[in-house]
Amino acid sequence: MAKARFIRSQLLDRHGITGIFSLRNGGVSPPPFDSQNFGPDPGDSDRFIEQNLVGLMQSAALTCLPHQANQVHKTALLWCSGKGKMHSQQADILMANRNNTAVAVRVADCLPILLADPEAGIVAAVHAGWRGSAAGIVRYAVEAMLKHGAQHEKLLAALGPCIGPCCFAIGNDAAEALIKSTAGANDCLIHTSEIHADLAEINVLQLIDAGLNKSHIEVHKACTACHPEDFFSFRRDGNQSGRQLAVVATPPTT
Ligand SMILES: [Zn+2]
Repeated sequence: MAKARFIRSQLLDRHGITGIFSLRNGGVSPPPFDSQNFGPDPGDSDRFIEQNLVGLMQSAALTCLPHQANQVHKTALLWCSGKGKMHSQQADILMANRNNTAVAVRVADCLPILLADPEAGIVAAVHAGWRGSAAGIVRYAVEAMLKHGAQHEKLLAALGPCIGPCCFAIGNDAAEALIKSTAGANDCLIHTSEIHADLAEINVLQLIDAGLNKSHIEVHKACTACHPEDFFSFRRDGNQSGRQLAVVATPPTT
């Protein structure tokens, strides 16, 4: 089997937290889901998706299967513990504060955000598309972490690859909603004959607004739609698009 490819968050790694963003290759799924697909919805076989998950865990040295949920572009949160599985509940924030627990979100253009307070032992995976971003989903995640013992100054955030401002054309309604989501968001929109949005930058502003230190925010800028060799993209490939997986795990022991 080809070696599963992924990006490791150096910021989280430096603080003893495993946080990874899968790339599209190094898995076993056949075209059009070639080859490291984690999304069951478009029609790939569960067997291939499971093999991809095992391959990714081995390559990234993850010791526990990640929890996943039914993502619906809203702001619901699911606390996870124990052995990872696919939950039927709807949630776009998955959070854990028990040792040896991994949580994950699936993306293909939407922004994956991995959060951690290494000292409090809390991690979260957030699925932030434009709707979630307009609703300030990452703020909900930060608030929940603070309520459970995390501290502003300890919080770390790793933002994975997503659709870039080069390709992310949005309508007027989406633009208005994003502008309202945080101060300065208007500067993250580019107006030409269309409106293009910088989803990652808007979420960076929301994180700073939520109290995170700028030096604790890592952004992996690579447009998923521009790079078919590395990423699945829903905008580019529609129903033929696979999904990347973003995973963050609490340490095996403290
Ligand atoms: Zn692009």
